Amino acid sequence: MMKEPKGFMNRNTFEKIIKDIIEEDLCFDKLTPFGLGESTLHPEFFEYMSEIFSMNKSRKYFRSIDLHTNAINLSDELIDLFIKHSDQLNTISFSIDAITEDTYLNIRNNRNFNQMIQNIRKFFIKRGNKRVPRANLQFIVMEENKHEAKAFKDYWSSFLSEHKIDFQINYDWNPPMVKDTIFFKRLNPIKHEEINKSESLHYNTMVDLGLIKTEKNNEIKEERAVKSNEYRGEPKRRYPCSGPFKYMMLNYSGELTVCCIDTLRELSLGNINDSSIINLWNSPLNHSYRLDHIKGDLSRLPRCINCNNLDSPDISIDELERYLKHFGHKDHLKCLEEL
Ligand code: SF4
Repeated sequence: MMKEPKGFMNRNTFEKIIKDIIEEDLCFDKLTPFGLGESTLHPEFFEYMSEIFSMNKSRKYFRSIDLHTNAINLSDELIDLFIKHSDQLNTISFSIDAITEDTYLNIRNNRNFNQMIQNIRKFFIKRGNKRVPRANLQFIVMEENKHEAKAFKDYWSSFLSEHKIDFQINYDWNPPMVKDTIFFKRLNPIKHEEINKSESLHYNTMVDLGLIKTEKNNEIKEERAVKSNEYRGEPKRRYPCSGPFKYMMLNYSGELTVCCIDTLRELSLGNINDSSIINLWNSPLNHSYRLDHIKGDLSRLPRCINCNNLDSPDISIDELERYLKHFGHKDHLKCLEEL
């Protein structure tokens, strides 16, 4: 479990991030203003988001913005703000995970199930069948809720159809989510030894739902787009993770790490209140992470060794080559031939 206390990002840290981004003229593919907590609980969430939308006119600094929320605090004002800035806010993922109050209470220890459902319905009704902000209705498959997967799919399919909203149903990251999506997601456990268990639970639930066809049923066997347990047998050469190259993860206190999987910040690069974002990002420490990934030697990075996100196609050989050349690590170019 996390050792870090919970907290809210204070205004000084928020303004330091904005200042660094503007001064360095940084441009990101995406801003995701959430992490391990619920951003909408922040007393100044509306103000922070308004300021981000305002500084990011014409998507100068963030080409898109994605938000995850439990929707319990999704007020009319927030929905209106999101719809108004749908040129910037691309996707809202609603963490739902249940179709009954009891299961929701059991999973989240939260009694606001009905409020959450009403808010999500209100979002769709206000937004109508516009394509943005696109919504993900997310159900993470767990032992505690697997029996509700079908009812979840039926309820939201019926609601969206009734409101003439075009949607898709996904159980993996592929096919790309281009419409509103009912998304059955795998649990990403903190303990490495539980990864295979969550993988098979998700797989079996998807077979029961009929989303994955099996040979047993004399139907075409579908291949999973991302086989997260494919590599868990004999250790083999891993493809580098894009995290240290592309993903800045800032927590509420301003600590910077390289991915959202690093919940305990074992890969922390430091705090942006003590240095600039770009100095930390291009620090010798982050270069050492990147080179370890390129060399396929993760012995100094225990957090990365068993991570699901390795071998993702998020970073290309061309990008790795450009990185090595740009930062004067040409002697490592030969490592790319092994990938
Ligand atoms: S391998 Fe996993 S833990 Fe390591 S940087 Fe990538 S996403 Fe983070």
